Amino acid sequence: MDTKVVRIDEQHMDDSLIWEAGQIIRDGGLVAFPTETVYGLGGDALNPASSKKIYEAKGRPSDNPLIVHIARMEALSAIVKKIPDTAKKLAEAFWPGPLTMILEKSDVVPGETTGGLDTVAVRMPSDPVAVSFIEAAGGYVAAPSANRSGRPSPTKAEYVAQDLGGRIEMILDGGDATLGLESTIVDLTVDPPEILRPGFVTGEMLRRVLGQVEEDETLFRVDSGQAPKAPGMKYRHYAPKGELTIVRGPSDAVAAYINGRLSEGRRENRKTGVIASDETVEGYRADVPRSVGKRNDAAAVAKGLYRILREFDDEDVELIYSESFDGAGVSQAVMNRLLKAAGHKVIDV
Ligand code: AMP
Ligand code: MG
Repeated sequence: MDTKVVRIDEQHMDDSLIWEAGQIIRDGGLVAFPTETVYGLGGDALNPASSKKIYEAKGRPSDNPLIVHIARMEALSAIVKKIPDTAKKLAEAFWPGPLTMILEKSDVVPGETTGGLDTVAVRMPSDPVAVSFIEAAGGYVAAPSANRSGRPSPTKAEYVAQDLGGRIEMILDGGDATLGLESTIVDLTVDPPEILRPGFVTGEMLRRVLGQVEEDETLFRVDSGQAPKAPGMKYRHYAPKGELTIVRGPSDAVAAYINGRLSEGRRENRKTGVIASDETVEGYRADVPRSVGKRNDAAAVAKGLYRILREFDDEDVELIYSESFDGAGVSQAVMNRLLKAAGHKVIDV
């Protein structure tokens, strides 16, 4: 299949292109599209055949549920059993935006879209291209991140083309994703509500609106020994091809440790990479040293992480060491993804 890539300027959106993309979805095809978090691989959420195609194109296990994207609040009532007050309050506070809510699904949502669950994940993105596209597509677009399973989520159209070129009908290129990390997921079918995936909408922000909100222990702990609760969370997502280890401790000790390991790697003829910050990157003797930006700018770290992981893959880096980016708020989302990419391999120095 030829994948048509079309550039969309969000200031001057070409309605006929958006309409063409929507028509592909209504005809049961697949279109990758930009959102403020990462690029999504969209299909008709209410068409079981479309969801099957999404799993095939991604190479993703079909028990890993998809997020249904809507463009307006009125669309919600058709796909859920009821809209609890908690959902109304969160929608008011954070939609459109990087928050996904888990709710009881109605009968119109096929099990193929929800990985066989009775619940459905719903998000209303803020990206204007995403909004127009969802409307043109009929209002309900199921979309996981637009990467091949096991690769980092794509933050630009070029990365979508690398992973899915030839496998889907169209890619809408809206430039770089503004945030660069997937949405926060909160489960509203349990009391108190529970965060299943951390993101830009933090636990503290949710608590300000809802009062009590739990966080799944397994999201941040290196060795909690429990299986994660969100279905998709058991899979080793976001993994670079190289072996990634996070090194935690005072920055001098971290640099000394990592440089020691890098020398060893070089002696073994392994190509090396480092994930560091603007403040520290020059102190590393790696083949591919990369800075995520300023150490205390969690949003910059979030935005740069997946790009760097992909660059390591493109350069066939075999041995990767990363500094740790612990902290409150968005840093928790960053560390959650970094820990997964590292298969939870952390060394304290
Ligand atoms: P992605 O689309 O790649 O950002 O991943 C979507 C993730 O949302 C899945 O891997 C699940 O972890 C989560 N998810 C989607 N639907 C549900 C649901 N009904 N219940 C719990 N988690 C869900
Ligand atoms: Mg994903």
